[in-house]
Amino acid sequence: MTPLVCKRCLYTSDHPLGVYIDDQGICSGCRIHEEKDSLDWAFRWSRLEKLVKPYRSTDRRNYDCIVPVSGGQDSYFILHIVKERLKLNPLLVTYNKYWNTPVGIRNLANLRIRFNCDILIQNVNPVSVKKIVKETIRQLGSIYWHCIAGQTVFPVQTAVRYKIPLIIWGAHQGVEQVGMFSHEHEVEMTRRYRKEHDLMGQEADDLVTHFNTLTESDIWQYRYPDDGALNEVGVRGIYLGNFIRWDPLAQHRQMVDMHDYQAARFTRTFDIYDYVDCFNYMNIHDRIKIKKHGFSKVTDHACREIRHGRLSREHAVDLVRYYEMQPSLSDSMFFDWLGVDSRSFDFSLDSVCGHDIDFKSEGCMSDFYPEANDSLGVFDQNSGYITIGKGWPV
Ligand SMILES: [Zn+2]
Repeated sequence: MTPLVCKRCLYTSDHPLGVYIDDQGICSGCRIHEEKDSLDWAFRWSRLEKLVKPYRSTDRRNYDCIVPVSGGQDSYFILHIVKERLKLNPLLVTYNKYWNTPVGIRNLANLRIRFNCDILIQNVNPVSVKKIVKETIRQLGSIYWHCIAGQTVFPVQTAVRYKIPLIIWGAHQGVEQVGMFSHEHEVEMTRRYRKEHDLMGQEADDLVTHFNTLTESDIWQYRYPDDGALNEVGVRGIYLGNFIRWDPLAQHRQMVDMHDYQAARFTRTFDIYDYVDCFNYMNIHDRIKIKKHGFSKVTDHACREIRHGRLSREHAVDLVRYYEMQPSLSDSMFFDWLGVDSRSFDFSLDSVCGHDIDFKSEGCMSDFYPEANDSLGVFDQNSGYITIGKGWPV
């Protein structure tokens, strides 16, 4: 059946997270986005203040909450809200994905200095990480499973271990992107959503089969704590996007001005803020995304900008057509790191991915954000992965 296309944004009814298109031809993501202009955000902020109040440590001998961070995405804004507006004392946690860019490491170091926070870094050994990446390429057509799994489980494990019940996340993807829930549902973190959507249905234990060499020692760090452990501490994860009118572009620009967050230009999207901490997300991972799902990250960015009224649908279509055909950079760095050649990688991928895409440049188009600084050298081929969380400068 031919998928339906939203008349307002560019999503279709076969979006992997699930998009419903109503009888007026508008998708659920766009409908939920309309709430951003109708909800009483001052009231919602007061709900957030009330919600976090009981979690403040009275004797200052423990942290008030956990904030998962990286050197990219919304980390700065989340911390700005948590530390400077809610006046909470957070413990930061970050999962080392190994594909760190110099800009990402710099942003993470600057974040810790600016906000004056303690941080825990989870470094799972590289042998296990590489084994997992090879296996998730084969089983799921994904190089990113370990990053998502690590980023979503390490904060929860830390909450249990350090007895810090409250975890504060940014926006919920199901609300923000596809309108799976209303903001007013105040949806919280769950084991089930993580498995079904973040992990593509595969928990760490599901990766171990008779047909591979993964063992308990490779996957135990990715295992979600059991309900008994969670309930004993009372662990819950809340999303700021349910209480604050979420606008990533405006927020990032604010963080550039206030806290010196650094952006970088990409070849495959016009957004310069989101994934500056990773060599692979906007490159080989994005190339896989379009092969698997028929659209890439630039479509997500374009839909977001359409909804915020900063981009016309017509211009968005042009941008997507241009950017999704651009080559992905730094693939060879990934193959070297993983110890595979590009042909065997493509072969593994072709067996799980449906869309046949011919990547080539279609000429030039002026960028959406003319202020983008491309002198940061994120994708300088001479700079490899910064594989452990060193300070900056290294
Ligand atoms: Zn839409």
